[in-house]
Amino acid sequence: MDRPVADLKYVGPQRRARLDRLGIRTVKDLIYHFPRRYEDRRRLSTLDGLVPGSRVTVLVTIVGWEEKSVRPRLTLMRAEVEGEGGRGYAVWYNQAYIKRRLPPGSRVLLTGKVSVRSLLPEIQVDDYELLEGEYTGLNTGYLVPFYPSSAGLTQRWHRLVTYQALAEYLPHIKETLPLEWRQQYRLVPLAKALRDIHFPSEEKALHQARRRLIYEELLIWELALAMHRRRTAGSEGGIAHSRDNTLVNKFLKGLPFSLTRAQERVLEEIFTDMEAPRPMARLLQGDVGSGKTVVAAAALVKAASGGWQGALMAPTEVLAEQHFLNFRRLLGSLGLSVALLTGSTNRREKDRVIAGLETGQISVVVGTHALIQESVKFKSLGLAVIDEQHRFGVRQRAQLPAKGRTPDLLVMTATPIPRTLALVAYGDLDVSLIDELPPGRKPVATYVLTGSQRRQAYRLVAKEVQAGRQAYIICPLIDESETQEAAAAAARARELQERVFPAFKVGLIHGRLRPAEKEEVMERFRQGDIQILVGTTVIEVGVDVPNATVIVIEGAERYGLAQLHQLRGRVARSSHQAYCLLITENNLGGTGRRLKVLVDNSDGFAIAEADLRLRGPGEFFGTRQHGWPEFRLAEFPRDLAVLEQARKDAHFLILSGYLDRPEYAELKALAEEKLAAWEV
Ligand code: ADP
Ligand code: MG
Repeated sequence: MDRPVADLKYVGPQRRARLDRLGIRTVKDLIYHFPRRYEDRRRLSTLDGLVPGSRVTVLVTIVGWEEKSVRPRLTLMRAEVEGEGGRGYAVWYNQAYIKRRLPPGSRVLLTGKVSVRSLLPEIQVDDYELLEGEYTGLNTGYLVPFYPSSAGLTQRWHRLVTYQALAEYLPHIKETLPLEWRQQYRLVPLAKALRDIHFPSEEKALHQARRRLIYEELLIWELALAMHRRRTAGSEGGIAHSRDNTLVNKFLKGLPFSLTRAQERVLEEIFTDMEAPRPMARLLQGDVGSGKTVVAAAALVKAASGGWQGALMAPTEVLAEQHFLNFRRLLGSLGLSVALLTGSTNRREKDRVIAGLETGQISVVVGTHALIQESVKFKSLGLAVIDEQHRFGVRQRAQLPAKGRTPDLLVMTATPIPRTLALVAYGDLDVSLIDELPPGRKPVATYVLTGSQRRQAYRLVAKEVQAGRQAYIICPLIDESETQEAAAAAARARELQERVFPAFKVGLIHGRLRPAEKEEVMERFRQGDIQILVGTTVIEVGVDVPNATVIVIEGAERYGLAQLHQLRGRVARSSHQAYCLLITENNLGGTGRRLKVLVDNSDGFAIAEADLRLRGPGEFFGTRQHGWPEFRLAEFPRDLAVLEQARKDAHFLILSGYLDRPEYAELKALAEEKLAAWEV
C-alpha cells in the first residue's frame, strides 16, 4: 500500500498531479481518503410514477438519441428511454461522447432530477451506470460515495480508481487488531471496514465500518501519545522533589495577597506530583487573569528549595521580560538567582546565563524559544514550565524538558479549552483547573460600537486616563504583512497623539520594534509614563498591567472569540471597573452574534464553548499550533467516549507489554509512524 498511486490503472500524470494536490501520494493515502457523504440510490423508481422535482434512480434501456444545440456552447444530448412503467427521456448537457458510450439497446441505471416533457418524464442525469461491460456498480444503484474536494477529478473517476485499489490491495492488508480484541468490541475486520466505508452495501455495514475505523484511528493516536509521553518524560522514573515547604511558605507569605481556594487546590495537585518519583506532565488551565503565574512561581520555588533548577518558557519576549521582572522581585528576596534569556539578550549576558545554568549558579531562568537552543545546558533541571502553551507546537513543548533528565513539566494555557476538548488537545497531560478569579474582580463592561461611535470610545478613554488609569488601543489585524500592520499602527498612534489625545502621552508597540524597544515601551507603560498604549496584538498574551482599565479593539470582527477574550483579559486585572470596546463596521448577522457572546459572558470557558459551537473545532483552534490534532473520521465532542476507551486500551497495551507481541506488530508500527511524523 506504500506504492505510488501512479502504479494504479487509470492514473496518468495529470491525474497523479491532481491527487497530489489532495495529499494523495500512495495507494494507502487513496484508500484512506474517505467519502464525505453518501447518496442513497438503491430504490429503483418506475417511469410512470415520477414526481417532478424529485431525485430518482431508474433502470432503463436506451431507445434512440437526439442531439440539440440549445445556444452557443450548450449542447443537449437527449435519449429516449424505456423501462418499467413506460417511456421517458434522459438528458445530458455538453457530453457528446455519451451517445457513443450508451448506444441504443444499452441497459443503464440513471440517477437524476425529474422534470416533465410533453407529458413524459424527463431525467436530468447526474450519474449513470451501464449494466453491461464496464458495469462496476459504483455510481448508482447503491449507497454511492462522494469524495471531499476533488481538485478537478470527477466523482465517477474517483470511485473507479478507489474501487480498483481496494480490489487489488485489500487481500494483502495486514489486520491491526487481533481477533479476540475485535470480538470483544464487536469490530469488523480492517479489510471489510475499508471496503464498506467506500462502497457500503447498506447503512449497517457503513455504520460498522465507521465504528471500526474511528476506534482504530483513536487507538493509534492514543498509543502515539503515550509513547511520546514515555519518551519525553522517560520511563526510568523522575525526580521526587523535597516535601519540605519552608521556602515555599515564606514565598507565599511575602505575596501582597493570599491565594484563592482554587489556586491552593491546584498547587496541592502540582506539589503531590512533584513529590512523587513519577515525572509530572500537567496542564494548568485557568481563565485569563485567574493567577496562573503565581502558581508556577511557587512550584519553581519548591524545585529550587531542593536544589533543582527551574525554567519557564514564554511565547513572546514581552511576556518573558514581564515574568522575569516579577520573578526577580518575588524570588530574589528568597535568595534565589533568577536570569532572563531571550533572542535579544546581549552576548555577554547570554554567556553569563549559559555558564550560570551549566554550573548551577542560576536557579531559575525565564526566557523565550532561546531556552531550547543547543547551547543551553542545565546542571540539574528539575521543573520546566511552559506558559501560554497554545503558542508552541507539540515538538517545542517537548524540547524544554529534554534539557534535563526527566524533569517535571507544567504547561499553562491561557485560551480556555472546553472541558470536552481538553482531553483531545492535551491528551498526554493531567489537568489542573483554576476555576475561580481573585476576589473583587468585576466583569469587564463590554460594548460593541460602530466606527461612527469611535468618538464615544475615545471619550471614555480620556475619562479613565484623567482618573489615573491607563488604556490600550488595538489596531486592526492585517493578515498579509506584519510590516504593513506596524506602519498602520504607527500612523494611528501619531494621529491619536496629535489630534485626539494631545494632553496625554501615547505610546506605540508592534511586532516590528526591536526587542529592546519593546521592553522600553512596556516598562514605560508599566511605570505610568505612557498612559495610552497603541498596539497590534503583540500585547495579546499574558501582559499584566493592573492599572490599565480600558481596551479599545478596532476591527473586532477579525478576531476569534477566544482571542478577543484574551485581549480583554489585559484590563481585567484589578478591582477597578474595566471596559472593553469592540469596534466593528459589521455587527449584524453572524459577526453580531459572535460579539454578543463576549458582551454577555465573562467566563472564558463559556466563551470557548460558544466559539466552538459557532465555528467548530477546526476554526476554534485555528491552526495546528494550537495543538488540535486532525482526524480522518473521529469528531468531537461526538466521539469522546470512544476516545476515553481508546486511551485506556492504549495504556493497557503498553503497560502489559502486549504491544510488543507479534499480533500487535502492525498496530505498533502505525503508532510509531504517527509518532515519527510529530517528531520531525
Ligand atoms: P493569568 O492566569 O492570566 O496568567 P496572572 O498570573 O497574570 O494571570 O494574574 C493576573 C493578576 O492577578 C496579576 O496581577 C496577579 O498579581 C494577580 N493575582 C494573582 N493571584 C491573585 C490572588 N490570589 N489575589 C489577588 N490577585 C491575584
Ligand atoms: Mg499568564
